[in-house]
Amino acid sequence: MYREPYSFPLERYIEPSRFAQIKKFTQDMPTPLLVMDTSLIEHKYDELSANFPNADLYYAVKANPMPEILRLLKDKGAHFDIASRYELDLMLSLGVGPERISFGNTIKKKSDIAYLYDKGVRLFSTDSESDLLNIAEAAPQARVFFRILTEGTGADWPLSRKFGAHADIIYNLILQARDLGLEPYGLSFHVGSQQRDIGQWDDAIARCKYLYDAVAEDGIELQVLNLGGGFPASYVDPTFSVEEYATEIMRFIEEDFGNKMPHIILEPGRSLTADAGIIIAEVINISRKSKNNMYQWVYLDIGKFGGLIETIDESIKFPIYFEGEGMGDEIILAGPTCDSMDVLYENYRYHMPENTQAGDRVYIFTTGAYTRSYSSICFNGFPPLHAVIFNEGVNS
Ligand SMILES: *Cc1c(COP(=O)(O)O)cnc(C)c1O
Repeated sequence: MYREPYSFPLERYIEPSRFAQIKKFTQDMPTPLLVMDTSLIEHKYDELSANFPNADLYYAVKANPMPEILRLLKDKGAHFDIASRYELDLMLSLGVGPERISFGNTIKKKSDIAYLYDKGVRLFSTDSESDLLNIAEAAPQARVFFRILTEGTGADWPLSRKFGAHADIIYNLILQARDLGLEPYGLSFHVGSQQRDIGQWDDAIARCKYLYDAVAEDGIELQVLNLGGGFPASYVDPTFSVEEYATEIMRFIEEDFGNKMPHIILEPGRSLTADAGIIIAEVINISRKSKNNMYQWVYLDIGKFGGLIETIDESIKFPIYFEGEGMGDEIILAGPTCDSMDVLYENYRYHMPENTQAGDRVYIFTTGAYTRSYSSICFNGFPPLHAVIFNEGVNS
């Protein structure tokens, strides 16, 4: 297969001057290290708000729950989507009121629903009868989102199958919710994370419209359409811009709903924080397994357990920058732990400049989402991924 000569498009991921500042800021810090540039999160938030001017943004806290980031988003007026009582405790400790919080996890214990309700949360999502009955008992009169099943086709990190239910089940749940004294508030779905096919929203929105109409005949007016997450970050594979996503998605909604537009909610996680993160790692070792082995193995001080679990099945291809000259060889990249599944990329081949040596630093871009929150607590004794905030002007 023909490949373009290797030249990492650094400018596609960062302004060279900002990169120089970040390198300087981190030069004496031990690796692996996640650096979060909060000004980029602010930019992403503003960009998404500007493109969906009438939507409420509920940040999916799981993507990156660093308090500095949550505080920044709080100050910008964001809402928050949480998935556990622990995320609620975190949000409350930062002074975010429960009226700005939705509980988007369809999987929850009744005791946790009671805890959330007691702290003031009134917005829950569901996709099953048993969960609905728990909500009705533990969170009387709460507002409820009903989650529609999607296939996750086209997404680099699908969230399908496990969440949501078919339209006929959802229809019955909505009627049952009303009879249980709950407030059927709207429909939600998630088309899959890093969803690169905008058409997936078209299908999901059409299904929602069908349900809106069906329950309207039973006298239930749903108010909100929750479009979930799935908006893109800049990994190796290209995506459309946020503006293109917004234009298309709003067109789908207008086509289906006409002049009876629902209120819109978005739950961005990855698209707000991924681009703002750079993991700085180090080459531990470079080795060839046998004389006639084509590819060198390159071991980094971060792997699947240190925060790069989204390399499972090579689903997410992080942009990786080795400083050095020239294209160099194709390599196999692996992490530092004693587990043979701790290999990052074996099928998708990254190139490494020839003069790269053990001890050199490596920069892994677009790592601000789903890295630190996924890193294990002490596999082989390695601590969770350490993270610092970079603030241009303050740190440079
Ligand atoms: C994870 C999650 C999100 C965030 O998805 P991204 O693709 O990271 O934007 C939004 N909503 C729910 C319910 C989720 O579970």
